[in-house]
Amino acid sequence: MAAPFIRVNEADNVGIIVSAEGVSPGVASASGFRFREAIPQSHKVATRSLSAGQPVIRYGQNIGRLNRDVEAGAWVREEFIDLPAAPSLDEMPLATAVPPIPLPLDGFTFDGYRNADGSVGTKNILGLATTVQCVAPTVEYAARRIKVEVLPQFPNVDDVVAITHGYGCGVAMNAPGAKVPVQTLKDISLHANLGARPLLVSLGCEKLQPQRMFASDLRVLEDIPVIRLQDEHGFADTVAAIMRAAEKRLSELNRRTRETCPASALSVGLQCGGSDAFSGVTANPAVGFAADLLVRAGATVFFSEVTEVRDAVHLLTPRAVNQDVGRSLLREMHWFDEYLARGGADRSANPTPGNKRGGLANIVEKALGSIAKAGSTAIQAVASQGEKVNSKGLVFAATPASDFICGTQQLASMNLHVFTTGEGSPYGLSLVPVIKVSSRSALAEKWHDLIDIDAGRIATGAATIEELGWEIFRFMLDVASGRKETWADYWGLGNALVPFNPGPVT
Ligand code: CA
Repeated sequence: MAAPFIRVNEADNVGIIVSAEGVSPGVASASGFRFREAIPQSHKVATRSLSAGQPVIRYGQNIGRLNRDVEAGAWVREEFIDLPAAPSLDEMPLATAVPPIPLPLDGFTFDGYRNADGSVGTKNILGLATTVQCVAPTVEYAARRIKVEVLPQFPNVDDVVAITHGYGCGVAMNAPGAKVPVQTLKDISLHANLGARPLLVSLGCEKLQPQRMFASDLRVLEDIPVIRLQDEHGFADTVAAIMRAAEKRLSELNRRTRETCPASALSVGLQCGGSDAFSGVTANPAVGFAADLLVRAGATVFFSEVTEVRDAVHLLTPRAVNQDVGRSLLREMHWFDEYLARGGADRSANPTPGNKRGGLANIVEKALGSIAKAGSTAIQAVASQGEKVNSKGLVFAATPASDFICGTQQLASMNLHVFTTGEGSPYGLSLVPVIKVSSRSALAEKWHDLIDIDAGRIATGAATIEELGWEIFRFMLDVASGRKETWADYWGLGNALVPFNPGPVT
């Protein structure tokens, strides 16, 4: 039988209850204490008696001080722990413990779609990009008809996707924050899985004109068919125009075939959502191991979610490959501190009721578990909010932690997505495969047709972090090749795209 609780670090004075049924009072723990009360799964037990004022240690780190005495075997509840001050950004160690370059991992490939711009797709999709929300229902209507009436003639094309969003008008286009959503939307429209070229549908009078969307590279726009709704005569003619343009583009996309590509052509975005106290013990370390394999194979892998990194950033700045990268990491933490302060909030706004139900006491504990996704290699680069990731190796790409906003921003840079979850989310994206990894076996069993990989096996001792890491890595190559399908793709689950707009609306 598995141990009733697990600890990650020798120094930890709390353990996480493993059993799905929790533990009962009076039961001996094998560590010399008896459980004093019923404690649910994924919540914390004090492994020795602790006094008020003492730090609660998890992952070998202080996650907050106790505001009362707690006996060994008692439940250490969220409200017993006071949130510590965030680590000061002024005196962080920069590039002081740069991990060595890991051994190269050769010979791993996947079957992808090569694009003229050098990117590689993991799917072959016709994308109907849009400049503004006004056109969204029209484009979605056209996409439904194209899928039924036109797509069947082009068997090499996987899907037709209306790339709709809430941005594009009624916004302060000249505000500094506008460049974040504009850049994100431009990069998504040129996504590798669209053959790096979309059809573009514009309204005509919107703030985000096509020329504005592609201002950073206007030559690209010359190659993109643009349909302006205000130039068309009525709805039926408009839809017919979109369908004619779609048929032409579909015939081009249909000539694409998968070719053997090195694993280095993968660009994988890592995210968590609905985390619990197991996330940092099972799913995230396993994904971190897979991230190390991707780095060794020469690929790009990036993690994000500033508020879930902020409280553990002192563990990351030493891993920056040089001081400039370390400073860039701190710049993104500062930017988000100020963004939250402007809205009258701070980092304590992060944990959700579900996170807390899942045993996460506060943002410090959540962050320490979250950064396990980043594996163990050096951080090679930092992309600021809205900036495309264009470096190999491990990258930090600054995004909010909100699942759909982070996913949208990551989408601009990734051809594959890995999403870890403890509480569970049926999250998916239409443009890239989303591999969902559960932190607990109970979730994987309950959601057997939504969770792709069960990392809960690590907690029960049925698998090691290494074994799970390799399994995730191999699954990534299979999914990227179209040999295996994620559950999100099987059910056609594509969440709305929500570009992050830190600028004002008008
Ligand atoms: Ca998230």
